[in-house]
Amino acid sequence: MDDGEGKAAAGAPGIATGRLTPEAYARNFGEAHPPLTHQQALNESDRCLFCYAAPCVQACPTAIDIPSFIRKIATGNVKGSAHDILRQNPMGAVCARVCPTEVLCEGACVRNHQEHRPVAIGALQRYATDWVFDRNVQLFSRGPASGKRIAVVGGGPAGLSCAHRLATLGHAVTVFEARDKLGGLNEYGVAAYKVAGGIAQREVDYLLAVGGIEVALGKRLGRDLTLAALRRDFDAVFLGIGLGAVNDLGIDTPALSGVYDAIDYIGTLRQTQNLSTLPVGSRVVVIGGGMTAIDIATQSKRLGSEDVTIVYRRGAEQMGASRKEQDWAQTNGVRIKHWARPVRLLGRDGALAAVEFETTCIDAQGALAGTGERFSVEADMLFKAIGQVLVQDAVAGAVSLLDTRAGRIAVNAQRRTSLPDVWAGGDCVAGGEDLTVVAVEDGKRAALSINQHLRAAPATG
Ligand SMILES: Cc1cc2nc3c(=O)[nH]c(=O)nc-3n(C[C@H](O)[C@H](O)[C@H](O)COP(=O)(O)OP(=O)(O)OC[C@H]3O[C@@H](n4cnc5c(N)ncnc54)[C@H](O)[C@@H]3O)c2cc1C
Ligand code: SF4
Repeated sequence: MDDGEGKAAAGAPGIATGRLTPEAYARNFGEAHPPLTHQQALNESDRCLFCYAAPCVQACPTAIDIPSFIRKIATGNVKGSAHDILRQNPMGAVCARVCPTEVLCEGACVRNHQEHRPVAIGALQRYATDWVFDRNVQLFSRGPASGKRIAVVGGGPAGLSCAHRLATLGHAVTVFEARDKLGGLNEYGVAAYKVAGGIAQREVDYLLAVGGIEVALGKRLGRDLTLAALRRDFDAVFLGIGLGAVNDLGIDTPALSGVYDAIDYIGTLRQTQNLSTLPVGSRVVVIGGGMTAIDIATQSKRLGSEDVTIVYRRGAEQMGASRKEQDWAQTNGVRIKHWARPVRLLGRDGALAAVEFETTCIDAQGALAGTGERFSVEADMLFKAIGQVLVQDAVAGAVSLLDTRAGRIAVNAQRRTSLPDVWAGGDCVAGGEDLTVVAVEDGKRAALSINQHLRAAPATG
């Protein structure tokens, strides 16, 4: 990667801004995978066997009829193809780019056994959804007004999916979002090169264009709103507030410069207009094993870090990030060290200098244990990427009312909470997989359940 001038960040040796040239930033944060051309889409759709009881459909959390949408691309009906996708998954454009297809639809594709290469389902889904976005073809409309009002809290994938389906069913929806932009982690979390070209915002605009969805930005449940007031003023409430807090490292962390929360940093990275203003370490250590760890490590390398190491306490098989994601990080020059956990941060003049680790193993009882063997990795920047937790304050006054499980909101299969007029979905609920597509499905299921519930009750107002 090209070196730029590189200005040392004040008080933090080894951390600098502007490590790369403008051209290198543009290249490193442009689209990671280019879209299919028309001819490539036709060729790829020809590889589909249009299987009966297709395993790819069963592996898709939103149950998109994949053979049907692929067949429509093959026959030139791209609009119909996009309809097949978006009626099941209203955020099909972003999901086409961010879904770990290798463990979902493409992982299940029968072509893996015949040609050792699945049909490129994600790329075909992108081809069809981009087609309608590029032509601004609206495929959905509002249903006749029901007279019911629903509050959706959180404008991420779960909340937006719920709001869109409710609007098509004729309900009036207000989305309350704490930030000043909708999109949730599509806008503030997912790696920039997966969703280049402003696709997260384009998808939000497309969803809102259906009508019937009011948006209240800068409104945080627990600060500006209470669940009690929402329950009083609306016929139903959907909570899609994600996970706002980050797990702690579990060790004493002295106040040293150079220690960062990966999610906060990625949020800043996604919103900055000028990547050369971001502080970037020369030697970066990332603690964690999920997608956040992969993303912050890869993006650090792409911002010009010389040496980036992910350290994970278990083996490659146990990492939350898929093999493909791990390979992607390694292809970008990131080193992954397994079976080690941090025990101490070492500083010099108030700044991080190294991280001391202990190697780990599985003990005779099957539990993770330290071996007593220690080693250090020099670092001027450390990213904590060890998973997120629900901000309990977000549901202030309601925590005692809502049942929780494993620190998240408990819901049933219809995404109903323990309160009769409150539904929830996405990362904030127990038992999910912390994937965009799962959040979208949760929002959709909750909307269908809310609709069924409200249609059975008399209209108010
Ligand atoms: C760094 C990172 C990378 C990821 N990469 C991928 C990927 O490549 N592929 C993939 O499938 N998944 C990925 N994920 C996971 C995916 O982003 C999430 O599973 C998905 O965004 C969950 O959607 P959600 O709507 O439940 O929550 P969120 O996307 O977190 O949205 C929640 C929304 O609620 C708002 N909110 C929070 N609290 C309140 C409140 N009190 N009042 C009002 N509003 C509130 C937030 O501001 C936010 O807009 C990634 C996650 C991270 C952190
Ligand atoms: S499993 Fe593969 S070949 Fe079969 S329908 Fe799905 S995409 Fe087509």
